[in-house]
Amino acid sequence: MQTAQSICTRCGSPEKIAKTWVEIIETRTSKSKLTHTQLACTNKDCQKKFEVKLSEEIKRREDMKMKNEAYAAKKKEALLNPTPEKKITLR
Ligand SMILES: [Zn+2]
Repeated sequence: MQTAQSICTRCGSPEKIAKTWVEIIETRTSKSKLTHTQLACTNKDCQKKFEVKLSEEIKRREDMKMKNEAYAAKKKEALLNPTPEKKITLR
């Protein structure tokens, strides 16, 4: 199988394969192999910038996930233990 040379979408430099790994997907009836390829830009500056951006992005996503979890926990707690102020009083 021939793969076309991929070009960095950020700077237009050719990309090289940084990492490949194989994932085995097993279902009840079959087993298949999935090959993942991670590309890296051959332009060092560009790749470095990208990695910085990527790590920031990952951090931001983790922060967001944590906030979401905290919010969900709070919401659940509020549902389980409604505060007296929030109780509807029927007269
Ligand atoms: Zn690039």
